[in-house]
Amino acid sequence: MQYQNTLEFVIQMDSNDPLKNFRDKFYIPIINKKQCIYFVGNSLGLQPKTTQDYIYNELENWANYGVEAHFHAKTSWVDYHDIFIEPLSKIVGCLPHEIVVMNHLTVNLHLLLTTFYRPTKERYKIICEAKAFPSDQYALESQVKLHELEPDDTIIEVAPREGEYNIRTEDILDTIDKHKNELTLVLFDGINYYTGKVFDMKTITEAAHNAGAYCGFDLAHAAGNIELHMHDWDVDFACWCSYKYLNSGPGNIAGAYIHERFVSDASMPRMAGWWGYDKESRFKMTKNFKPIPTAEGWQLSNSPIISMAAHKASLDIFEEAEMGNLLKKSKLLTGYLLFILDKINASAAKKTMEVITPINEDDRGCQVSILMLQNGKEVFNALKKHGVLSDWREPDVIRVAPVPLYNSFEDVYQFGQILKHLI
Ligand SMILES: *Cc1c(COP(=O)(O)O)cnc(C)c1O
Repeated sequence: MQYQNTLEFVIQMDSNDPLKNFRDKFYIPIINKKQCIYFVGNSLGLQPKTTQDYIYNELENWANYGVEAHFHAKTSWVDYHDIFIEPLSKIVGCLPHEIVVMNHLTVNLHLLLTTFYRPTKERYKIICEAKAFPSDQYALESQVKLHELEPDDTIIEVAPREGEYNIRTEDILDTIDKHKNELTLVLFDGINYYTGKVFDMKTITEAAHNAGAYCGFDLAHAAGNIELHMHDWDVDFACWCSYKYLNSGPGNIAGAYIHERFVSDASMPRMAGWWGYDKESRFKMTKNFKPIPTAEGWQLSNSPIISMAAHKASLDIFEEAEMGNLLKKSKLLTGYLLFILDKINASAAKKTMEVITPINEDDRGCQVSILMLQNGKEVFNALKKHGVLSDWREPDVIRVAPVPLYNSFEDVYQFGQILKHLI
């Protein structure tokens, strides 16, 4: 693609965009009396205009049927979570019985760690990325302590090399090899939240398995953003949230994936609850847990239908847009953003910023992280005054994520004009 830094070019790109009508399906926040340039879909995705109706519909079911809605609502509440299987298995790349929508991301991570982190005297070490998202660090640390082990001795972190920002795959593989006799678990993000780098999930999983360890991924920044094949890559488990790229609303219901080789094994250790109990006999309410032989066997509680309705509203839009189209546009759109940033750097007397996201389109999603070499915080604050919502990560990174569902090429162009002016 030959990009151009002109208004005519972006108007043409937007009018040729097969997904151009999807922007209108979302509420775009207003700053200075006009639609802002919303580049924080990696933090909280925008609200679909249909969400209110989906929620209202379940409130009506509750009003009209009361408890009977569990069985008599159009989508019966007891099986409500089943409607997520099809759209989500396309988004994360897995089989229907490998997926379940439940709880929140960190809760699901804990549940999965309870199953997959079973340290023994010989094998107890965990390999993960240095500076992982804090919640993941705390989850790992507390799990290790629950087993009466020392986090410092147990959790091996792989960091970028000196002077680099991204962790090299070869360094992850070397670390796995080095600890292969004591290793029991490898846990990474699908995408590093800080730099936007995509980890090579297939290769990391293979190396973990060769070392006799389980391998899991936190897909918070990957689900709905990049191509994923959890099953084909042979990943053991994964979890994600639904409020970032999946636009399901603040703190909304999350998801989990468990490879099929584990789901029908009733002996897999887990924290159990009644909603994970065999569906046929759940309401007999007898002793001794008998799990559903799918990922649903990890459910604890009955489903929060009102939040799930918002998740459904958003996933229906994904179904209509199709992941393949979104990925195609995403590559063009973020490619354009990188082109614009390059132009700004080239025209400045002195380099004022550096992109720390990998440039290669297979190694990133839509997010670009910009390391500000001077006045970073001032530029970030001024962007907001000029109608651009981006986010700030200490000490000096501005993250911008043009999301293919609702961002346009014109958004990226206007952002470039504003940023150039501010710098
Ligand atoms: C956003 C994010 C979280 C947030 O966890 P919640 O339990 O949803 O609050 C956790 N881990 C990663 C990697 C994230 O990006």
